[in-house]
Amino acid sequence: MRNFTICTWDVIIIKKLRVVAVHHPKLCKIRNSLREIILHAYHDYDAYLQSIWLATTNSRERDRYRAHIEGLQESLNRSICKCMICQSIINDMVYIPRHKAWFCINCWKNNLIPFR
Ligand SMILES: [Zn+2]
Repeated sequence: MRNFTICTWDVIIIKKLRVVAVHHPKLCKIRNSLREIILHAYHDYDAYLQSIWLATTNSRERDRYRAHIEGLQESLNRSICKCMICQSIINDMVYIPRHKAWFCINCWKNNLIPFR
């Protein structure tokens, strides 16, 4: 186990799990605000893509847009911006390599992650 402590946040690597924990309240607020900005940008772009998808009549083009929209959604779901289980955007996160996704520390501690 390696433990790196840098000022007010930690990156802890335990058996290939990566935990990112922020302790300072101001840094927590900045982190959460950045996550909100990213989520708003995603939702705006998703709405834009959905409108194009709905307006497209060519089935091949529709399939391409659908795949692109689903790919973006999958990327967001697996990102550090929100927990894949409880959708929390305010908690510290842990990366589970088996799932190739980030989950909040509460779901991890409560054993809500299958086959972790
Ligand atoms: Zn969670």
